[in-house]
Amino acid sequence: MRRDVVIVGGGVSGTFCAFEMHRAHPGVDIALFDSAADFGGRTASVDMGAARPLEGGASFVSSAHRLVLRLARELRLPMTEVRFRQVGLHLEADCAPPRGKQGLGDSALTGAALQHATLTKLAPQAVAAIAAADVAAAKRILRSAEMDGRALWRWPIGPLLERLWSPEQVRRARATHGCTSNFGAANAFDTLLTAAWEGAPGQSFYRFDDGAGNFGRTLAKASPGVLRFTHHRLIAIGRCADEFVLSFSTPAGLRHIKAGLVILALPRLALSRIAFGDDSVGAAFHHDLAQILDVPAFKLFLEFDRRWWDDLPFALGAGDLGAVFTQLAAQQNYFENAARRHWMLAVFADSENALYWRSLLEADGAASVTNGAPMGAAPAHLIAAAHRHLEIMYGRVPAPRCGVYADWSAGWHAWRAGARSWEVRERLVQPNSNLPLFICGELLAEHAGWMESALNNAEEMLERASAWLARPRARTFLPFINER
Ligand SMILES: Cc1cc2nc3c(=O)[nH]c(=O)nc-3n(C[C@H](O)[C@H](O)[C@H](O)COP(=O)(O)OP(=O)(O)OC[C@H]3O[C@@H](n4cnc5c(N)ncnc54)[C@H](O)[C@@H]3O)c2cc1C
Repeated sequence: MRRDVVIVGGGVSGTFCAFEMHRAHPGVDIALFDSAADFGGRTASVDMGAARPLEGGASFVSSAHRLVLRLARELRLPMTEVRFRQVGLHLEADCAPPRGKQGLGDSALTGAALQHATLTKLAPQAVAAIAAADVAAAKRILRSAEMDGRALWRWPIGPLLERLWSPEQVRRARATHGCTSNFGAANAFDTLLTAAWEGAPGQSFYRFDDGAGNFGRTLAKASPGVLRFTHHRLIAIGRCADEFVLSFSTPAGLRHIKAGLVILALPRLALSRIAFGDDSVGAAFHHDLAQILDVPAFKLFLEFDRRWWDDLPFALGAGDLGAVFTQLAAQQNYFENAARRHWMLAVFADSENALYWRSLLEADGAASVTNGAPMGAAPAHLIAAAHRHLEIMYGRVPAPRCGVYADWSAGWHAWRAGARSWEVRERLVQPNSNLPLFICGELLAEHAGWMESALNNAEEMLERASAWLARPRARTFLPFINER
C-alpha cells in the first residue's frame, strides 16, 4: 500500500492531524495507524455504571482551551461545566508552616502560589508581560532569567525552589499542588512558564459528558476519507527511492507501507523504540529526544456501597468536584455526589507517587477493561493499600467493593534541566530538514500535559507539513486564550 500521507499515533494529536489535513486537502490520500485496539491514546474513558464514565487519562478542559472547545462543538460532543473545590488538605506535621516563618501569607502557601511567587521573585518583568498578555516578551525574559548566575532552563525546579524557600514551604507547596513533577527534576523555565498559563485567573472548567475517550475516537471517525488501522505498531522507518517505507508489527505479521509524507504523533518512549534508517532523522535526533522526561501517572477509582463522604465536613453541590490533597502517595482524592453507583477517585498521583502504586501492580497481571489503554480491574491488595490511605486521612472508611486503575508510564512529559526546550522542539518537529518527516503531540507541547497545547503544537506542525505538500493551509491556529 502507498499513501500520500501516513499519520502514526491515533491519540488526540494524530486524529486531529488526520481530521485537519483531510479537511484542508481532500485530494490527498491519508492513512492513520495506531498500535492499540482503538483510537484516543491518553484519553481513555471506561463505563462502570457510574453517573459518568471514569476518566483514566485526560478529564478536563479549561475555558482557555479554545481549540478543544471549538472541536467539541463541531463534533457535537456535549460538555458540562465542573466546579473544582478544594475541600480538604492532609498534611503531615513536618509540613505545617512554623509560626512567624512563612515569608508568604498563609493563604499563599499553596503550590500554585509558590510557583507564582517564585516567578515574581526571579523575573518580575515576565510576570508583568504575562499580565499584559505579551507572550513573546514573557518567553524572551524568562529564557534569559537567571538565579545565582545560572539560567532558569539549567535549574531543576525542585532545587531552585529549595534555594529560595524554606523546606516546610516547599514540602507544603508540593503537597498542595496536583502535579509533583512541578517540584522535581524538570527544568525551571518550562515549569514556571506552564504554571503561569495554568494559573491564569478567571478560568472555568468543562468535561465531556460521554467521556474524553470519545473525543479522540470521534475525531478519528470524523473523516471517512481517511483510512484507519488499529493494531499496527510502527517499528521501523526507512527510505526507498523518494519515499518512506514504514514497517508495522501487526497481529497478522509484519506490514510495509510506503508514504510520501509521514507524521509521527507519538509519545517519547514510542519514538525512542522505532528504528530510524537511511538518514530519515538527523544526527541530533536521539540526543534531542533524551532531553524529554517521561512523567509517570496513576489513577485508582474505587466503588463503595454507600457515599461515606456525605459524613465528611463538606457539602458538594451538583457539578461540584471536591478535591483533597495529601502528602501520602495517594496525592489527590476526588469526590462527587452522584446518585448512581458510588465511585470516587482515590488516587491521582504522578512521578514517584505513581511508581509507588505501580509497584503494587507489577507482580499481578490485571485483566484489561478497556481496548488497549493501560487500564484494568484493580487487584485486591492495591485496593487494600488505597483503603489504608483513606483511613489514615478520614478515620473509619467502609471497604471498597472494587476498583479500576490507569497506569501510564508517561502520563505527560517534561523538559530536562539543561534543555533549551524552544530549540530542541524546533529541531524535533522535523528531525531531518531535507525530508517530509514530522513529529507532533503532547511531548513537544509548550504546556505539557494538556490536550489543548498538544493540538496547538499539531497545528503549527501542520503548517510546515502543508507547505511541504505545496498546498499551504489557511491558518486556524488558536493559541491558549491567555497567550494572545
Ligand atoms: C492521567 C492523565 C490525566 C490527564 N489530564 C488531562 C486533563 O485533565 N486535561 C487535558 O487537556 N489533558 C490531560 N492529560 C494530557 C492529555 O491526555 C494528553 O496531552 C493528550 O491526550 C496527548 O495526546 P497525544 O495524541 O499527543 O498523545 P497520545 O494520546 O499518547 O497518543 C499517542 C498514540 O500513539 C499510539 N502509539 C504508541 N506507540 C505507537 C507505535 N509504535 N505505533 C503506532 N502507534 C503507537 C498510542 O496507542 C496512542 O494512541 C492527562 C493525561 C493523563 C495521562
